[in-house]
Amino acid sequence: MLRSALLAASRSPQVRTVVEKFPPTQAIVQRFVAGDVLDQGIAATAELVATGRKVTLDHLGEDTLDAEQAAGTAEAYEHLLAALADTGLAADAEVSVKLSAVGQFLPDDGEKIALENARRICEAAARAGTTVTLDMEDHTTTDSTLGIARDLRADFPWLGVVLQAYLRRTEADCRDLAHAGSRVRLCKGAYKEPESVAFQGRKAVDLAYVRALKVLMGGDGYPMVASHDPHMVRIAGQLAEWNKRGTDSFEYQMLYGIRPEEQLRLAEAGNAMRVYLPYGQEWYGYFMRRLAERPANLTFFLRAMATRG
Ligand SMILES: Cc1cc2nc3c(=O)[nH]c(=O)nc-3n(C[C@H](O)[C@H](O)[C@H](O)COP(=O)(O)OP(=O)(O)OC[C@H]3O[C@@H](n4cnc5c(N)ncnc54)[C@H](O)[C@@H]3O)c2cc1C
Repeated sequence: MLRSALLAASRSPQVRTVVEKFPPTQAIVQRFVAGDVLDQGIAATAELVATGRKVTLDHLGEDTLDAEQAAGTAEAYEHLLAALADTGLAADAEVSVKLSAVGQFLPDDGEKIALENARRICEAAARAGTTVTLDMEDHTTTDSTLGIARDLRADFPWLGVVLQAYLRRTEADCRDLAHAGSRVRLCKGAYKEPESVAFQGRKAVDLAYVRALKVLMGGDGYPMVASHDPHMVRIAGQLAEWNKRGTDSFEYQMLYGIRPEEQLRLAEAGNAMRVYLPYGQEWYGYFMRRLAERPANLTFFLRAMATRG
């Protein structure tokens, strides 16, 4: 119930206005978001890399219905990738992109515009010597996102894509994508989805995650295990061992600000550990999904509101 309400609020302009104007919000947002501007994203990246972690940066934004804003986001990624190259961080840091931020939902030619903007970002990544991963949004976008990924892979075979274990289709998508050179980030899924397309409830989603992970770990691609769940992390390690995978043939991924000690433990044990690092002003949707994932985060937020009177 609570999760559904928060996920509904994540797409409400009215709630957005209230939350953004609430004074202590910034302090809480800082736990999950590196800052408003590029320099803060780069500084946080340098700190993580200095502790043996890798990074994927997200220039925050989503659901744009403005072609200029979509092009502006692509340009922001070009600046980001140039900055990663200039600071010597590109070997350890890549970028994550939401296609809805670069035009996927535009009424006319949305997919075409998103493809062109994503291509610009991939070209900038190639110049910088790093990679791009396409985030996955709600299920109405899955076919479109996988189609755009397929087109881009013809020129940028290193392009990664996210699959969400809660979707009933994902095990089959994993089989399609578990081939050599294919980078797949497997997460549980962060949106509110109907039962017709997605498993409901923690246990069913966890079981689906393990089934999908078995396919990826047993295949020839490069699995990216995106979960903070200790069970999933342990199972990933076992599956890697059973499939005789070296630590260079898969990686763990976690979100900035979540389980940092576990991130360090995994990195210190010799694993590739990548942190998903968002920065920028469009933090609202991202932040609300993080609140929805964990009731304790909401309690913290509400307590801060209450103490402000
Ligand atoms: C690198 C990365 C990229 C992602 N990309 C996408 C994407 O493209 N599309 C998409 O739909 N989803 C994405 N997600 C989010 C994902 O789908 C889940 O919603 C999120 O990771 C929570 O699931 P979990 O596997 O960590 O397990 P859970 O069972 O939700 O959590 C396990 C434990 O992790 C900790 N934890 C989890 N979430 C939080 C939180 N918000 N705050 C504090 N502690 C927490 C808690 O200790 C919790 O008990 C991504 C996640 C990661 C790590």
